[in-house]
Amino acid sequence: MKQFTKSFTQQESIPETGIEAAVEVMRSGRLHRYNTLPDEKSETDLLEIEFAEYQGVPYALACSSGGYALHVAMRAAGVEAGDKVLCNAFTLAPVPGAIHNSGAVPVLIDVAEDYCIDLDDLERKAEASGAKYLMLSHMRGHLADMDRIMAICERYSLFLIEDCAHTMGASWNGKKSGTFGDVACFSTQTYKHINSGEGGFLTTRHPEVMARAIMHSGSYMLFERHFAAPPKEVFEQIRYETPNYSGRMDNLRAAILRPQLADLETQCERWNSRYRILEALFNQSSAINIPARPDAEHFVASSIQFSLPGFTAEEIQEVVKRCGERGVILKWFGDAIPRDYTSRYDSWRYIEDMPQLPKTERILSTLLDMRIPLTFSEEDCALIGEIIVEVVNG
Ligand SMILES: *Cc1c(COP(=O)(O)O)cnc(C)c1O
Repeated sequence: MKQFTKSFTQQESIPETGIEAAVEVMRSGRLHRYNTLPDEKSETDLLEIEFAEYQGVPYALACSSGGYALHVAMRAAGVEAGDKVLCNAFTLAPVPGAIHNSGAVPVLIDVAEDYCIDLDDLERKAEASGAKYLMLSHMRGHLADMDRIMAICERYSLFLIEDCAHTMGASWNGKKSGTFGDVACFSTQTYKHINSGEGGFLTTRHPEVMARAIMHSGSYMLFERHFAAPPKEVFEQIRYETPNYSGRMDNLRAAILRPQLADLETQCERWNSRYRILEALFNQSSAINIPARPDAEHFVASSIQFSLPGFTAEEIQEVVKRCGERGVILKWFGDAIPRDYTSRYDSWRYIEDMPQLPKTERILSTLLDMRIPLTFSEEDCALIGEIIVEVVNG
């Protein structure tokens, strides 16, 4: 019986140029982003400038994590205690957590058959709730129809925060993910598209939102030392009104991220060639359903999702177990017990008036997920695909 032996949590090493830059930062002793020589731009400054350029937006802020960026995005957008925020029921725990952290109340929206947010349910709940904010997770890299999302935002005057934790490098009809909304948040945590252990970005085209985000992030009164930022006049009032929620990026992390950002396009192609191998194998099994991706969606497949329609919970658990025995680690989004990084919406019991979402539960009940670390070769992916198909076909 074929067996896979590599680790699903092993990422590639940091590029040598990043390691050298990190060593240089350590030699200098100037690890704090504002600890610069006269006229020097810190690694964090340079990273922000490069990320803003990469996204094609005027302003970027590097910070301590993706979840932190989401929280600051809510605050900078003016969310107040008790406000309602529309968000995907199918997402990662830091998303409802960030909403809760800002004192707001998540209004959970169903997942659709294509694993994106359910646009009909979004429209219904935008109308019924009167919410003024949408926190949209491009969960596991799946981009919903962005044209329709923007039309809904327009119709209900929704302030759109994009959670791009899985879509750094992705685009819809040639427009980068994260440039549709009012604010976008990214993660540079180890399992995302560039890796600094922990870290994140917030981008926006609104000067006042960025000024508040910079103040929140813990800039003290050093806001003039940001370059992918609005002019200092914008801070005049904001500096007095905006609490410091310390959560800065440091130069060590920035140093290792810069060469990874420069390399991102190549990495995206490597992920996608692996995805296509797995997808082709899965499509050979009639038991496996893997939704076709729309032509408009240019995704970055750092993971793959598929469904086993008609499988019971017990049968799914058996598939996960038998794949695991053969070295292939699958996650099940339908599990009622939160495990590892995965938790179903109804396990976030701090949410007030938790709705029942039978459609979401039905779709998640057969939905499986697998990471595609770039330490796997294309041959590895072929082997993994064969093992999964064998197990599923029983
Ligand atoms: C990872 C992730 C985040 C937050 O990232 P952290 O950097 O771990 O805080 C937010 N949303 C989604 C969908 C994620 O997967």
